Amino acid sequence: MPQFVIAPPPQAVVPVTGRDAVFPVRRIYCVGRNYAAHARELGNDAREPPFFFQKPADAVVASGSTIAYPPATQDLHHEVELVLAIGVGGVDIAPGAARAHVFGVAVGIDLTRRDLQNAAKAARRPWECAKAFDASAPVGAIVEWPATARLPTSGRITLDVNGVRRQDGNIADMTWGCAEIITELSMLFRLEPGDLIFTGTPAGVGPISRGDTVVGEIEGVGSVTLRVN
Ligand code: MN
Repeated sequence: MPQFVIAPPPQAVVPVTGRDAVFPVRRIYCVGRNYAAHARELGNDAREPPFFFQKPADAVVASGSTIAYPPATQDLHHEVELVLAIGVGGVDIAPGAARAHVFGVAVGIDLTRRDLQNAAKAARRPWECAKAFDASAPVGAIVEWPATARLPTSGRITLDVNGVRRQDGNIADMTWGCAEIITELSMLFRLEPGDLIFTGTPAGVGPISRGDTVVGEIEGVGSVTLRVN
């Protein structure tokens, strides 16, 4: 082991339901516009191929946390998403082989500074400031997915703000399914254990204000709760 000249940063982790051991986060990948209705609400063609962006691993926030309203935005948005937790790495993974690479699944919220994203799009600039800011990736506990079970292909996905439903979709409506996402992503990057993949959000994205409580849920997967101060 090398000696570090400064204290090494802590390993980002996500709890695993029913386990004392936790899931170490290496990278966070996100899919853009993966539900036709959400793509339309942002003014895009529903049938374009998947594209990806990243958030830093230490943007992960545990369910039940309170975060500070982020700086430099007047329009913080929620995007509830199914999250895949990679347990086995690989490249050029065929859709039929994708299942074996997934350790578990969770519910996440892809927090977005929408005003900065719109400005970035208009100026043809990167999305980092809109998507990859501190505490931008709340994730609920990971549910280990049985080796014999297929990756989720359906299940209601919802998000409530202060008890009012904002997003209500079904992961069956993802343009690119879990296996296809793993295939496409693994053709661009070597997936490694510890990678998280946010798979896109259904329609109904909208603003979060200071004092709000946000709850995301996916039928058969779990939930994530966040408070914003
Ligand atoms: Mn998203």
